[in-house]
Amino acid sequence: TDAVPAPSSDLASRTPPYPKLLARLQEVRRVLAPNRALTLAEKILYSHLEDPAESLLTNTNNGTSIRGTANLKLKPDRVAMQDASAQMALLQFMTCGLPSTAVPASIHCDHMIVGYKGADVDLPESIKGNKEVFDFLESAAKKYGIEFWEPGAGIIHQSVLENYSAPGLMMLGTDSHTPNAGGLGAIAIGVGGADAVDALVDAPWELKAPKILGVRLEGKLSGWASPKDVILRLAGELTVRGGTGSILEYFGPGVDSLSCTGMATISNMGAEVGATTSIFPFSPGHVPYLEATHRGPIAREASQIASLPERHNLLRPDAAAEYDQLVTIDLSTLEPHINGPFTPDLSTPLSRFSEVVETNDWPRSFGAGLIGSCTNSSYQDMTRCESLVKQASAAGLKPKADFLITPGSEQIRATLERDETLNTFSAAGGVVLANACGPCIGQWKRTDEVQKGEKNAILSSYNRNFPSRNDGNRATMNFLASPEIVTAMAYSGSTTFNPMTDSIPTPSGEHFRFNPPQGFDLPSQGFAQGNPQFLPTPGQPDPSVEVQVSPTSDRLALLELFAPFPDTELKGLRVLYKVKGQCTTDTISAAGPWLKYKGHLPNISENTLIGAINAATGETNTAYDVDGKTSGIPDLAKRWKEQGKEWLVVAEHNYGEGSAREHAALQPRYLGGRIILAKSFARIHETNLKKQGVVPLTFANESDYDLLDACDELETVGLLDVLRSGGQGSVELVARKRDGTEVRVQTRHTLSKDQCGFVMAGSALNLLARKAGE
Ligand code: SF4
Repeated sequence: TDAVPAPSSDLASRTPPYPKLLARLQEVRRVLAPNRALTLAEKILYSHLEDPAESLLTNTNNGTSIRGTANLKLKPDRVAMQDASAQMALLQFMTCGLPSTAVPASIHCDHMIVGYKGADVDLPESIKGNKEVFDFLESAAKKYGIEFWEPGAGIIHQSVLENYSAPGLMMLGTDSHTPNAGGLGAIAIGVGGADAVDALVDAPWELKAPKILGVRLEGKLSGWASPKDVILRLAGELTVRGGTGSILEYFGPGVDSLSCTGMATISNMGAEVGATTSIFPFSPGHVPYLEATHRGPIAREASQIASLPERHNLLRPDAAAEYDQLVTIDLSTLEPHINGPFTPDLSTPLSRFSEVVETNDWPRSFGAGLIGSCTNSSYQDMTRCESLVKQASAAGLKPKADFLITPGSEQIRATLERDETLNTFSAAGGVVLANACGPCIGQWKRTDEVQKGEKNAILSSYNRNFPSRNDGNRATMNFLASPEIVTAMAYSGSTTFNPMTDSIPTPSGEHFRFNPPQGFDLPSQGFAQGNPQFLPTPGQPDPSVEVQVSPTSDRLALLELFAPFPDTELKGLRVLYKVKGQCTTDTISAAGPWLKYKGHLPNISENTLIGAINAATGETNTAYDVDGKTSGIPDLAKRWKEQGKEWLVVAEHNYGEGSAREHAALQPRYLGGRIILAKSFARIHETNLKKQGVVPLTFANESDYDLLDACDELETVGLLDVLRSGGQGSVELVARKRDGTEVRVQTRHTLSKDQCGFVMAGSALNLLARKAGE
């Protein structure tokens, strides 16, 4: 288990293209006004533009109002995908007919592994249950030259931090916590599969230029306070929407005192405030981490770049950089926080937590303390927890709550095993789960007595705590805290216990009080490699490999290209459903048991809009055909599809809010949906619809929503001209009501020239496939 350096060929593909980026930064400087200061995020992002002049000068008042305005066409350096979302990403990539990916990419099998009895039992069981999906992913990885991390190798974000993230890199990941890599100075953005495909085929990936929210860190952490508390506290201040459309950029003297993995924890949870991503500047913590993970040459190159004069310095912000919003946190006075339940922004300082528990009548005891996951399983986290466990064990104490440990990767697990940390946990009664997501994503088989629907509490060092997320029980309250606080509190089993001030009676009748935790940023003997079976397959394409998709599979199905837009206006479109009120991506494509079908478009389409409320009747998932016959929405859509009848949905505000789930756009398209007409759209979903060839239109007069009903027949006027002209003009809808009367509805659209191309071709993928074939 001695540390083994990564092969040098790997290192080449893992090093950001620094010379190119530095040259591009100068181009960005030339395009912008000479005295325009740039933040760090701007430097890295704009240096990844395909054509800086085009993106930065179009519609931005000659570059004076880029943030929140410009459409950036970006060329990311790398893509990472997790097993659940990789399925649709790869199926889409395959339709383009390319022999290999255009940029280095990796697949990580982590989401489909259960947490139950421990890694030895859970891993083989999970592999057995998901074999055809893993076989598909592995065969596609081999064929197209994607590095494949098999089940048990680690959680995507931990593996990315240990192997791929680097200062100045820009990457996309098909998972919302991709920004974890920002702890190592990368711009790393979570996207849907279709967006990842843009990068995989070398098409520019579009992003509205984010605003930059500066977070100035002062002072130094000490005692019980940890990096996790920085983001728990910030989440309370910004709320779950506070970072929307923004990059969180950390700076200030406090940064230099943080470990690389601590910065990753903070970046990881920027997703909880809705941020596009989070980033730290190149800092002292990065060098030893890069060296310990066998990337010394990257550390040296980055150190040189970080010491260049400001104008050429890609890895630090300009001194005069301005932020759209600024928050300051003093690490020296920061207190541990506990966030939740049910939302990550309900933040309470530890000293007030017991009082808040009493006031809200939250459970006084909790059944499980869960540490680790992609958010908090670093050597520093685990050795600090170990110091607490050793103190308690010496006093004769055992955890009162179940104590579950999820290492983030084989590298960290093997290192903790070698250094006896895992032994300490196991001896105290802790259960070490597989290096995978497990209880963090609902793959948790609880072994305690808690019944479905029963109000109960758990404490975790994870990042999300929405209802049902961990054990499928909507009544389980998951309180988020640092792993140190979770570990210490597990010894009392009480939510009102404050480990900083309270004591626990020992078997010998004494009162035990914890001393503050102590740990090590990095292992003194270096990282252990662990089981070599968990190393990734090489990223070399092999055209002789056949991608494994069984034609009889109910979990995977190859995709067929959608038909291109006809050479006419759309006629005879029928209103499938008029939705009342909120319609999230979860309403359109439910999660839970349906996740199993993420790679099978026909099967997952059986959940299309099943959460939507019928505006006419108030019923959920109850649609009416023209003859009055009722059925579920997917059934009616399928029936009309068989009849060759295309359709549209009428909806209210913020249609498609929630997540970037691309299935919410793919499924309606697959079932024959052509238009979504809403009062307004969630931005990401609106973009996803266009990528799949569905036209999102908004009412010019919102009250026209009242004019339309299910089964009205519509035709478009002006849509073909809009599409042919690259987005000029507007679309009128002429609706024929069932009583024969006619109403006209004026609409608006936000189709750009490129997006018109997607719709005309049938979908963005169709366009990519066509270009790839040229
Ligand atoms: Fe997502 Fe949890 Fe897995 Fe991290 S551990 S990637 S947050 S499911």
